[in-house]
This record gives sequence, structure tokens and C-alpha cells, in this order.
Amino acid sequence: MSCPDAIGAEDRATAGTVSTRVDVAIRGVRLAAPVRRTGGAGPSDDGHVVLGGLATALPLRSDSPYLVREGRLVREDPLGALLEVTDLGIEVEPVQRPRFYDLATTDGIPYEKIAKLHGRDVLATTVVQTCSRYAPEDRCRFCAIESSLESGSTIAVKTPAMLAEVAEAAVRLDGVKHVVMTTGTSTAPDRGARHLARCVRAVTEAVPGLPVQVQCEPPGDLATLTELKDAGASSIGIHVESLDEAVRRRWMPGKSTVPMAEYRAAWTEAVRVFGRNQVSTYLLVGLGEDPDELVAGAEDLVELGVYPFVVPFRPLAGTLAVDVDGAGAPGAAVLEDVSRRVAKALRAGGMRGADQMAGCAACGACSVLQNLNG
Ligand code: SF4
Repeated sequence: MSCPDAIGAEDRATAGTVSTRVDVAIRGVRLAAPVRRTGGAGPSDDGHVVLGGLATALPLRSDSPYLVREGRLVREDPLGALLEVTDLGIEVEPVQRPRFYDLATTDGIPYEKIAKLHGRDVLATTVVQTCSRYAPEDRCRFCAIESSLESGSTIAVKTPAMLAEVAEAAVRLDGVKHVVMTTGTSTAPDRGARHLARCVRAVTEAVPGLPVQVQCEPPGDLATLTELKDAGASSIGIHVESLDEAVRRRWMPGKSTVPMAEYRAAWTEAVRVFGRNQVSTYLLVGLGEDPDELVAGAEDLVELGVYPFVVPFRPLAGTLAVDVDGAGAPGAAVLEDVSRRVAKALRAGGMRGADQMAGCAACGACSVLQNLNG
């Protein structure tokens, strides 16, 4: 466990960089990134870069004051009729298009439609791109899982054989280090977890030793968590997004029908099966929750052995949050404050994202926590 005094000094030394990282996470960057996401299940509409040495996913926005010039992050601010240009002293290198994107299966499906490169070395896929909770009255208001399907940039169901083929190529050609497999929720009692297990088994048979994180809702029968582990998954994300009941009902009308007690039981069993800090959950900042309650909930998760992956709510076109509610991104101050406090709890609990074997916390690109050693 780290010494709290040393952590304080570390925090102070990186204060400026962290504030910039937070601001650029919200305001985005003007950049033509070769590796980017649009639509889909998680944070999206972003470009992937290595910023200050860390894999980072940033919103791509033409109205951002930030841009990349000669490999460094620069900020432009209007100053009367002039433009004040500040070199922020942070190196930025766009992640290059991976070579596996140029391949296709024997029946002609481009690998890029089966799985994507995330961060700099993560292969990410949504094994079932439809969600049983996608009727407008049920859908999570921040989610665009089916929009990438409608636009033709992915396929509805990825088979175990397809994923094994793509994973083998991504490791061989592009040095992929771990895999994230998420899924839309099915109507089956396991909510889609068993198809995930079949996919994990195929991938780990094709590439022995490749760490895979699975992401799913609490899978009904908790024995399914052991099935996922036995299939070869190294870590698991069971994502609640908010711990606040009112926020859950407002933002996730369908998903909030799964009681918090069911989440807690699934997290507890997952920690028993996968181990402390191999289980995580997303917590979104900016859904209207109380920041102190969010931090207290995150501290409770750390105690349980579950990594609270704190990310800003990102307004995406095509979601109900943007198209109907007109929701915007959280303020930088609240995101920085919450991230700092949660990172402190993670360090105190001896849990770092980098210590997860696979998945979003191991990648860290969508969160500021990695910039805070959380
Ligand atoms: S944190 Fe997760 S969603 Fe974000 S880039 Fe990394 S693997 Fe993808």
C-alpha cells in the first residue's frame, strides 16, 4: 500500500496536468484521429491517442480550444482579434490504424466490424449489438448501442469463431495485450452472459494466455460468474453506472429494474470468483448525482474489492440524453474533484486500474483515474 504523504506530493506535482486532462476529457480536441469510435455501447465519438505517455480516449470536437501541433497539446484562446496559443507541454501521439482492420473473414466480413482497437493495445467488441432494453421507454438514455449497427459499421452478433480469428490477428499484427467483451442485454435469464462465456473460450483457445475482461449485467444465476471464469475470463465489469436510485430510474428505466441488492450480490460473488480488484463497475459523473454520495459509494465499492471506474458522462448524438433531453457534459471542477477523491480511496485500498489483468480499468483511457495513480 502506498504512503499517503508521498501520494499528496505526487498529486501536487501533477496538478496542472490533471486539470488539463480533465478539461480536455470534457471539451475534447480538434484532431483527425486514425483510431476512433462512433456510436456503440460505451463512451464513444472519440479518438484514441497516447497523451503524456498514457492511452487516452478524447472526444473529437471541432469547437474545442485544444488541438495537437507538432506532437504536443496546444490550447488556442481568442484574445481580442488575435489568438493566444499555449503549448501545454504534453506530448500527444495519435494511435495508428491497426493492421488487422485491413483483413476480412472468408465470408467477407471486415475484421473492423467484429472488433475494434481501443486505447493503444485493447481489442474491444460488443458480442451482441442489440439490447432487449432498447425500446425508448426502457433504454439507458446515454446509450447508442444499436446506432453503430444501423450505420452498418458493425454486425449484430459476433460468433466465437469470428472473435477467435480476429483476436489471433490483432495479437500477431498489432500487439494487442488484452480484450474487452461487452454485450447488449438479452431476454434470457443469464442476460447474455453465456454467449460471452462461449466467446471467451474460443478467444483464449486461439490465443492462450490472452487476458479477457467480460462486461455484463448481474447474470441471474450467480453460478454463471464461475462459468465465465472457467471459460477463461480474467476479469469482469458489472456496470451499474450510478448508485443513486433516483438517477438510475431517470437515466436507466429498464436497467434500474434490476435491484441494487442484485448488483451487490453479483459483485460479491464476482470478487470471490475473480479476486479483489479483478471486478469493476462504471460510475458516470454528470447524471445529476450528489458528488459526496458518489464518492462514498465508490469508497464502499473499494472496500468490497470492486474497482469504481469513474468516467464523465459523454453527450452522444443519437442518444435520448442528447436528442430528447439536451443533456450536456459535467463541469470540469466536479469531475476533477470526484476523480481525485476516488483515486485516493483506490490508492488507500491498494487497488490500481493498472493491476487489473484486462478491461477498462486496465486500459484507463476513458477515465482520469489513471492520471491520479488510481
Ligand atoms: S477504457 Fe474501456 S471503453 Fe475506454 S478505451 Fe479503454 S477499453 Fe475502451
